[in-house]
Amino acid sequence: MDDLKGMSARTRLVHAGRHPHDNHGVVNPPVYHASTILQPSLAVWEDSRKPDFDGYRYGRAGTPTSRSFEEAVADMYGAADAVAVSSGLAAIACALMAVLKAGDHLLVSDSAYFPTRKFCNQMLARYGVETTYYDPRIGGRIAELLRPNTRAVFTEAPGSLTFEMQDIPAIAAAAHAHGAVVLTDNTWGTALHFDALAKGVDIVVEAVTKYICGHSDIMMGTIASNAEHAGAVRDMVRMHGNCSGPDDLYLAQRGMRTMAVRLKQNEANGLALAGWLEGRPEVAKVLHPGLPSHPDHALWKRDFTGACGLFSFVLNPVPRAALAAFLDGLELYGMGASWGGFESLILPGDPKALRTATTWDEPGQLLRIHAGLEDAGDLIADLEAGFDRLNAAARAAA
Ligand SMILES: *Cc1c(COP(=O)(O)O)cnc(C)c1O
Repeated sequence: MDDLKGMSARTRLVHAGRHPHDNHGVVNPPVYHASTILQPSLAVWEDSRKPDFDGYRYGRAGTPTSRSFEEAVADMYGAADAVAVSSGLAAIACALMAVLKAGDHLLVSDSAYFPTRKFCNQMLARYGVETTYYDPRIGGRIAELLRPNTRAVFTEAPGSLTFEMQDIPAIAAAAHAHGAVVLTDNTWGTALHFDALAKGVDIVVEAVTKYICGHSDIMMGTIASNAEHAGAVRDMVRMHGNCSGPDDLYLAQRGMRTMAVRLKQNEANGLALAGWLEGRPEVAKVLHPGLPSHPDHALWKRDFTGACGLFSFVLNPVPRAALAAFLDGLELYGMGASWGGFESLILPGDPKALRTATTWDEPGQLLRIHAGLEDAGDLIADLEAGFDRLNAAARAAA
């Protein structure tokens, strides 16, 4: 469909980027496997070397399969352009490199996804970019950290593992008054729940690996930009030689079509689990911005239209054997990195080791849950049985 303007994100998610009648009426776009793309004449060949060439020139530079996915992502975000890359981390790296140069200063949230920190501390530092980490709850006071050479602010809300919200509109207003670019990692919010560009973000990255894909079987990232930054971002991705395979692009696009209904169930299950965990004596704290008890709940309600299935909770301190008894006997929660698929996951995390601008003082173990699409009652029963094992093991160790 060509004119989706004014329609809701849920509708755009279903139709954007698809042109069935250009393709024999087939509902989904074709999968083009391509490196070489032939040009029919010298004149077209010469045209194809020009930067504004509208056709296809080489597999790495785009095929109808990648273009259709990118068009859909740009549409979801109301962005001037979106580009697909090989992973969520590649999206973060390319977006940062597109706006930074030697001598620049960068502000990054202290609760950012850890590989983002590693990229800043090791890669960007090597190329002469200095990074300062800020308290995710800093809001408009970020103005105090802006230096004459501060070129960009990298936000992520809620924070990885610890789920602090950020006042992105206030941060963006301060950054823009200073001439700095605002980026956000919107993997948790997705285009459905956080309208990043409308809230003042210039460049939004998302790990397609998570909810857009939704089935735990591909790695991909995307960068959606406003008109000011779209050209620089696409150019940086091309210079890196970064691209995605056609089968993965196809699966990502197929996942996108059902994302809104999946997310509803992820959200409902996550909130059901988080609410139930809050009432458990074994639990010290639940970190889910959708809970009214969360310190940033009002901010989440103001800026987001929903939650996904990812949140954390902190146990009261228990011996390691009790933690192992809890985790090892779970039937429905797999222990593995990543999230956003149809299945539930649980992982221990250690935020203490990942912070420099703020501290993490919880004495108990943090556990991050991804609520999948299973029945919420079954998911709760599995955790309940886990707490029985945990308590028995803690008594045995005492
Ligand atoms: C997983 C994740 C990424 C990275 O995505 P990959 O596709 O695994 O590289 C980036 N940001 C957040 C918040 C993530 O959870």
